[in-house]
Amino acid sequence: MKTQTLTGKELAAAIRAETAARVAAGPQPKLAVVVATADEASLWYVRSIAKAAAGVGIAFDLADLGPETTSTEIRETLERLSADPDVHGVILQTPLPRGASAQELAAAIDPAKDVDGANPLSLGRLAAGLPAFAPATAAAVLALLDHYGVELAGRRAVVVGRSTVVGKPLAHLLLDRNATVTVCHSRTRDLPSVTSTAEVLVAAVGRAGLIGAEHVAPGAVVIDVGTNPTEDGGLAGDVDPTAVADRAGALTPVPGGVGPVTTALLLRHTAQSAGLM
Ligand code: NAP
Repeated sequence: MKTQTLTGKELAAAIRAETAARVAAGPQPKLAVVVATADEASLWYVRSIAKAAAGVGIAFDLADLGPETTSTEIRETLERLSADPDVHGVILQTPLPRGASAQELAAAIDPAKDVDGANPLSLGRLAAGLPAFAPATAAAVLALLDHYGVELAGRRAVVVGRSTVVGKPLAHLLLDRNATVTVCHSRTRDLPSVTSTAEVLVAAVGRAGLIGAEHVAPGAVVIDVGTNPTEDGGLAGDVDPTAVADRAGALTPVPGGVGPVTTALLLRHTAQSAGLM
């Protein structure tokens, strides 16, 4: 069986084009990102969001507090941006300084401007089936599955990873679409015996090549959320693409799969928060 490659580039471009058209028709929305790190990968990601925002006409505001900042300063900045009527989306970038809790601090983001679904209230509303912004990465997985016409209702979906940014919200989104959902984590016994029951398998772990042929049922649709830096400066997913080639029915590439759709959805969420979509 030839494995279909589910790239995210066309979908991301379509989302950006639609967002740009809506943004051009209304008052300019603004996305603010709070950064409190010197981590180069994280700063690179923030620059990529800034560039993407400029590409669709969304104003971008970087609040760089530096790695020596305090939880109090981060919270006050999030509160200030949340209260600013000119700001429509607020993101708290991780990692944070030692001792600062992303989840506790994200509670300071107004849920109406929580375009990356980081406030625990957003996750609670998502779990309750109420309108809320889902974390963009979790939403990107759903958007990719929809884009490629992958049926979810009644199908067995397995999510590996239970973080509040990806695994947990994604499990709720899949459940909402009537998939039968199993969530795995580091304490799951005999991971391949669970993942190989999946018709739709999502890996969101952060361990390069963890998912091999024995984890994948023949024909399964596999979504690789993992972004693991490689020694040569590139990125590797959680799935070993060589091992699952010709076994998986479909697989997202890393890079070029979930990542570009995630960024595009952050912009769409910001335009939505501004009432433009
Ligand atoms: P995280 O907070 O570190 O969570 C990792 C999850 O994987 C945890 O639930 C952990 O289990 C589980 N896990 C660890 N080792 C495992 C193993 N051997 N078997 C089964 N489960 C295992 O990571 P995250 O923030 O969710 O991110 C996951 C990956 O997605 C990372 O590579 C990250 O860079 C990537 N990511 C990509 C995007 C994107 O836009 N493409 C966005 C966000 C994240 P426990 O809960 O038991 O510890």
